[in-house]
Amino acid sequence: MGLIEHRQLIILGAGPAGLSAAIYAARAELKPLVITGMVLYGQASLTYAIENYPGFPNGIGGMQLGQLFEEQAKAFGAEFLFDEVQAVDLSKHPYTVSVSGGDYTTDALIIAMGANNKRLNVPGEEEFIGRGVSYCGTCDCRFYRDKDIHVVGGGDSALEEAIFLTRFAHSVTIIHRRDTFRAGPILENRARTNPKISFLLDSVVKEIRGHEGVDELLVENVKTGEKNIIPTDGIFIFIGHSPNTKFFEGQLEMEPGGTLKINELMETNKKGVFAAGEIADPHFRQVVTSAGMGAAAAISATRCLETMSCGF
Ligand code: NAP
Repeated sequence: MGLIEHRQLIILGAGPAGLSAAIYAARAELKPLVITGMVLYGQASLTYAIENYPGFPNGIGGMQLGQLFEEQAKAFGAEFLFDEVQAVDLSKHPYTVSVSGGDYTTDALIIAMGANNKRLNVPGEEEFIGRGVSYCGTCDCRFYRDKDIHVVGGGDSALEEAIFLTRFAHSVTIIHRRDTFRAGPILENRARTNPKISFLLDSVVKEIRGHEGVDELLVENVKTGEKNIIPTDGIFIFIGHSPNTKFFEGQLEMEPGGTLKINELMETNKKGVFAAGEIADPHFRQVVTSAGMGAAAAISATRCLETMSCGF
């Protein structure tokens, strides 16, 4: 397919990192093109109420916050393309981003394509997202005050979030598919000694059921094959993350956990290619931290383009 046009800066992704980068780059008059992908506003858009983003003391819906980010970026001149990336070629400069309608070339690129929480892929999971199925304790904890909830996973995230959720919930039951934990011993010990936490080990969730919200789980013991129906007010799933890096395999350096490797300036190992947000963040994964990384990436990209300090 043919060349559509050349741009100074393309931003891939329209979550908090991509949209913050767009605001900063647009204010620097780089006229960034944001290629949104098919899910606008990233994982944050799945959150009913974001209560920890500064400036919104009464909370704000994830979708609504994304719309405000977009409005602000457009007001400064950012352009948006609602299309999915098909390929990215970083082998020669200017770089090429292919979408369904053709190719764009660009001097600089900010990659903010996020990550997806791994799914259990069981019946009921998709259906009840936001209505009893959650992937973020920090986001949704307040909806489960004095409730009896379940947490799936045996890694650091699952145990850390389970411990956090005991501040709100009446009880937290951790469902893990083995009888030993991947999580480190300190977290395991803290979970085991927490009076609100109990364990359902060697067990997997086969189905999530409910009406208005989640009411019960079908759980199978993997050793005995026994199945039980367990009442619950909600299920938090922490079984790992998959950063959306498939276009960059073999092109950019990655961390062992699968995120893109960046330095403190948000630079990847390619000149003029920056990354921000969850695709490059194995630690924090918050709207505010992703937004901060996006702003930092845009400042670095601006310096690179203005001074040609990137070296191309
Ligand atoms: P993780 O370490 O990959 O653990 C994922 C857990 O989910 C494992 O226990 C795994 O079971 C289970 N699991 C995976 N797929 C499953 C499935 N389909 N059904 C049921 N269970 C499934 O992921 P993470 O806990 O998100 O941690 C990611 C990284 O961040 C790790 O390096 C971790 O150390 C780090 N982290 C650190 C901290 C901290 O230090 N405070 C906090 C959070 C995260 P198996 O064990 O059987 O494989």
